[in-house]
Amino acid sequence: MRVLVVEDEPEVAEFLSRVLRDATWATDVVGTVAAAREQMAVVTYDLAVIDVGLPDGDGFTLCRDVRAAGNHTPILLLTARNAVSDRVRGLDAGADDYLAKPFAVSELLARLRALARRPVAAVAPILRCDSLTLDPALRAAERAGEPLTLTAREFALLEFLMRNAGRACSRARILEAVWDDNFDPVANAIDVLVGRLRRKVDLPGHRPLVRTIRGMGYMIDASDVS
Ligand code: CA
Repeated sequence: MRVLVVEDEPEVAEFLSRVLRDATWATDVVGTVAAAREQMAVVTYDLAVIDVGLPDGDGFTLCRDVRAAGNHTPILLLTARNAVSDRVRGLDAGADDYLAKPFAVSELLARLRALARRPVAAVAPILRCDSLTLDPALRAAERAGEPLTLTAREFALLEFLMRNAGRACSRARILEAVWDDNFDPVANAIDVLVGRLRRKVDLPGHRPLVRTIRGMGYMIDASDVS
């Protein structure tokens, strides 16, 4: 296991590297966005712990760049802030998890172990429905061959609906699958998210696939699932 720590505060960086090495993970530490980019281009890491506030940029941008470069290393973002908007921003940027400072070492390690267990490039089957395809491993989706630009949450929703294609999914199940336990979304958050997803997936000229099941929830139409 090899971990990259991107943290500019020397004391925190030192603390993190000691904790991670104690957990028997090979740990590299860099203090800037530029150094992190270079390091991740050369070394294949099993995990990256990235601080949001860095001297030459921020962790959100770094995450986005890493994902845009096709790098799927699990990323845990560290920040002093715990605002919901920052958490969503981090997840939308492609981070896999989020931990606010100050944190307990036991929680950090537990979250990193969970991320490390996640199959990164496992041969997950590609999900198909009509001309819609979704590749869970590559975190990519297409409609009629055109790549869809989805946020992390839209992607999670689409993956959940496609894994349950042909079955109506209640709002409660969607909530459980797409939001974590600590987040209490506003009442219509699911409907807003489904609306955004529908506009991206059900392009003009293609069969509408995101169906509303009245009084129940939502479903991906499975009449042509392969
Ligand atoms: Ca910092």
